[in-house]
Amino acid sequence: RPSKVQKPKWLRVKLPTGESFKKVRRIVDEHQLHTICESGSCPNMGECWGAGTATFMILGNICTRSCGFCAVETGRPGAVDEFEPGKVARSVKLMEVKHCVITSVDRDDLTDGGSDIWAKTVHAIRYQSPNTTMETLIPDFAGKWENLQRIIDVAPEIVSHNLETVRRLTKQVRIQAKYDRSLEVLRRLKKGGMRTKSGVMLGLGETENEVLETMDDLRSVGVDVLTLGQYLQPTRKHLPVDSFIIPEKFAEYKDIGLEKGFRYVESGPLVRSSYHAEKHLF
Ligand code: SF4
Ligand code: SF4
Repeated sequence: RPSKVQKPKWLRVKLPTGESFKKVRRIVDEHQLHTICESGSCPNMGECWGAGTATFMILGNICTRSCGFCAVETGRPGAVDEFEPGKVARSVKLMEVKHCVITSVDRDDLTDGGSDIWAKTVHAIRYQSPNTTMETLIPDFAGKWENLQRIIDVAPEIVSHNLETVRRLTKQVRIQAKYDRSLEVLRRLKKGGMRTKSGVMLGLGETENEVLETMDDLRSVGVDVLTLGQYLQPTRKHLPVDSFIIPEKFAEYKDIGLEKGFRYVESGPLVRSSYHAEKHLF
């Protein structure tokens, strides 16, 4: 499915170079870690890795789901690696990351949805790097709230769960997910006292009104931080880009989002949910 539109010049990115980049590369390789930066073909790798930061993906690199936008491989994941929390924590320490972002594939195959490894990872990072703050970008745990509670119990500094798209397109974009279930995840996180964050990709065919409605829905469950970025088609097998949103429009959405009461809005063509994550602690 080729994209209907040509990639505009504002989406060109710098190639990764420099010592910090190499250091992150070395640590990630040595510890056989997965990053969403690589799995998601993120355009910001040069910038983020060059600044010594990366988003670690735990619970393997094969996902039980098959979202239409996502470059992570779908299939039957391997066994859980009990040493993973320790490896991630060690890497965070070696990289001297001040604020780290952890995410995972969805593990609908596990009774606990991976929440035990999630909690252990947060503990391990805290133990090895007591001054490092954390963002956990979590799945919906298929609505099994006892698994979500494990995340609330370990209280990361910020918890994010991405809505990814507007209500109408959710079926196409996140086939096994539900818009309202994701809102419920965010509502429960807020009720549990978490600082919350959510991300939406633009350019999938949503209308401006739908974007505004989505903002209202996120505010109705108390979400603090919103990220808005351009969807880019990772391979020809993924959903095509419907349109490229101009930078000025992203800037306008940012203003609207702030007016609607988000504490922080990161909005721009290259914004990804973990981009500039350290700023979202306010
Ligand atoms: Fe990695 Fe996020 Fe930076 Fe992309 S924006 S390179 S996913 S940390
Ligand atoms: Fe990708 Fe997450 Fe969807 Fe899995 S659940 S396919 S990792 S976006």
